Amino acid sequence: MHDPDSSRRTPVALDVALACVAVLGLAWVPFFCWTVSLEKDWARTAGARAVSAPSAISTTPQSEAVTPEHEQAGALVLGSPGPVAAQGALDDVFLDEIDDVLGSCLPDDDQRDGATIRLVADGKEAADGGRDTHILALEYRPPAGEPARFYEFVGLDARGFYDATGTRACSTGWRSPLAKLRRTSPFNPRRMHPILRRPMPHQGTDFGAPQGTPVYASYRGTVNFVGPHGAHGNWVAILHPDGTETGYAHLSRFAPGLQVGDQVRAHQLIGYVGSTGRSTGPHLHFSARAKETYFDAETLLRPPVAPVPETERYAFLKAKAELDQRLDAMPPLMAH
Ligand SMILES: [Zn+2]
Repeated sequence: MHDPDSSRRTPVALDVALACVAVLGLAWVPFFCWTVSLEKDWARTAGARAVSAPSAISTTPQSEAVTPEHEQAGALVLGSPGPVAAQGALDDVFLDEIDDVLGSCLPDDDQRDGATIRLVADGKEAADGGRDTHILALEYRPPAGEPARFYEFVGLDARGFYDATGTRACSTGWRSPLAKLRRTSPFNPRRMHPILRRPMPHQGTDFGAPQGTPVYASYRGTVNFVGPHGAHGNWVAILHPDGTETGYAHLSRFAPGLQVGDQVRAHQLIGYVGSTGRSTGPHLHFSARAKETYFDAETLLRPPVAPVPETERYAFLKAKAELDQRLDAMPPLMAH
């Protein structure tokens, strides 16, 4: 069960660098903190609060703060089905990301209704007029019990969301494309064809599964291909916010109504296992690429369990302290 490299190229947007800049830039950029009204239009701010922050270069507080581009901050009260204090008017994509952070940092059985959230985020204008959001820090205050804060940190080795001490990493939020993973052939960019004796890279991971087994989006993103795609057979490709594109090949059929441009959530049904295209039996060929280069898609599914390494602890605590100031500057909403 193998698949040749696809010659199709899709443009891949990269926001990874932006995230690094957003986090690392905090070390020297004085900032404002925006309190955003919880309305559909993020541009309508309820009021802006300036927060003076010490500069890393000089310990003297800066009198002239510069508003970092795209900065967003907000507060809301969680409820079912949507936030009660936000009157259901928050940008859907933004709510998805709150879901991602809570889903990866909190236990599944945690009681979330009535919990209050404060957060700071990067929220640049997207090409389609919407907003690409990226949470940098989030405070979760449950109806009963102790509040907790989580911080994104990107260092040399560290990458992801961590608790306040940096000693516990949240999971990545990536989900398995199948309920049960049985790997039959790994990613292998240097695979040699046994008979032809020429390189025939295996650009994804094959998972054996019976015909008709549901296939899920491994992370939220935008569907950028649905349909027959050469050796891939029936193929779905999803572009994720970090610029990674995942592919799901040899499907027997697609989820009803699925089309290019659809926004999907992590673990949303996208199709069913099959054996279409160049395939010798029912299986899912699961692939991932970034910057036009395929990498081992299985690495997306491994939860990071490592804490922030000792060598990066100081940088983490420094970034955390500045994010804390911005969280503290935001008036929390109260549940009724
Ligand atoms: Zn394969």
